[in-house]
Amino acid sequence: MTSPRPIAFFDMKAQQVLIRDQLDRRIATVLESGRFIQGPEVDELEAALCAFSGAKHAVGVSSGTDALQIAMMAEGIGGGDAVFLPAFTYTATAEVPLVLGATPIFVDVDPVNFNIDLDDLEARLALVKAEGRLRPRAVIGVDLYGNPADWPAIEALCAREGMFALDDAAQSFGATLHNRRLGTYAHATALSFYPTKTLGCYGDGGALLTDDAERAELYRSLRTHGEGRSRYEVLRTGMNGRLDTLQAAILLCKLPLLEGELAARNRAADLYAQLLPAAVHAPQAVPNAVSAWGIHTIKLPDAATRAHVQKALSAESIPSAIYYPRPLHHQPAYAQHHAGAIAGGPPPLPVSETLCDQVMSLPMHPYLAEPDIACIGAAIAAALAVGR
Ligand SMILES: *Cc1c(COP(=O)(O)O)cnc(C)c1O
Repeated sequence: MTSPRPIAFFDMKAQQVLIRDQLDRRIATVLESGRFIQGPEVDELEAALCAFSGAKHAVGVSSGTDALQIAMMAEGIGGGDAVFLPAFTYTATAEVPLVLGATPIFVDVDPVNFNIDLDDLEARLALVKAEGRLRPRAVIGVDLYGNPADWPAIEALCAREGMFALDDAAQSFGATLHNRRLGTYAHATALSFYPTKTLGCYGDGGALLTDDAERAELYRSLRTHGEGRSRYEVLRTGMNGRLDTLQAAILLCKLPLLEGELAARNRAADLYAQLLPAAVHAPQAVPNAVSAWGIHTIKLPDAATRAHVQKALSAESIPSAIYYPRPLHHQPAYAQHHAGAIAGGPPPLPVSETLCDQVMSLPMHPYLAEPDIACIGAAIAAALAVGR
């Protein structure tokens, strides 16, 4: 039952057709104004992001990676500081502490929800404290695939330890936990508007959300070279981390669709759940969480079965991807930092390592047609039935 039309893994065209006139109008307005940097669209978008998320402050920045970096710079995180983050995530989460001279401490993930494991976090925190060489300064929780991490637990741990809680919500904008959107948890939340994220622009972009007015003010200063109240007063070392006016204009056309798109992603996920064998369902949400379904991932028994299923899908022109094939502590760029971070070598990260052999992501976007999901489900069921 091959689909009559090509199935997109992410689909940015279907949405563009719906808003093309608005996009043309909004882009034309920016072209006419000539205010390509810090134009009024950036302020308008920041207000709209606050309204959507419930966060008190939003600061548009140049990417999700820069959002993470600006948030850590604002805390003065650098040499001698330990930053705890999951080993099973995108590289940017680990890159930022290293760029700032801090030490990433890779934490294993929970086998059920694939997000940072609180018990393992406590264990590694105790090791770092016992050794006394690094100051525990921050936890970066990632809501992998759009599925919220256990934020109440991470917040409680950070409050107890006086640590900074940063939500890497690059894959999860729009997700809710206890009926509150991500962006209202943690001290700050980093968003990415990379084109394939749940809210994506047509280039690079990102934002920081926070309820803390002082942090928001610091973020605004840091994104423009650490400037003070006047343009040529430099208060601190900052960076060029601004969001383009054109990208803000594009996001203003897309944001009104997001609520409906999140509902469509959840409908697609429900249909996948009905069609796929229960054994491959993954990950499970924490209680009272609604995923943003940035990515739809299944879990297969082992690497050989995964390769077999991927080949079967590819034979039917169904795209798939692996997020992520290698845990960060095995990446050449990070392996040495990992090995040296805790005296005597850090404890193993078995869940992250096993998931890298098992996970596989399927097409997921708000415009995925039901018959296409049925095709994908049938192809997977057939591949698993035949065996390898
Ligand atoms: C995409 C992503 C980022 C980085 O966002 P960019 O906008 O590409 O810089 C950071 N963390 C995670 C988990 C991501 O998926």
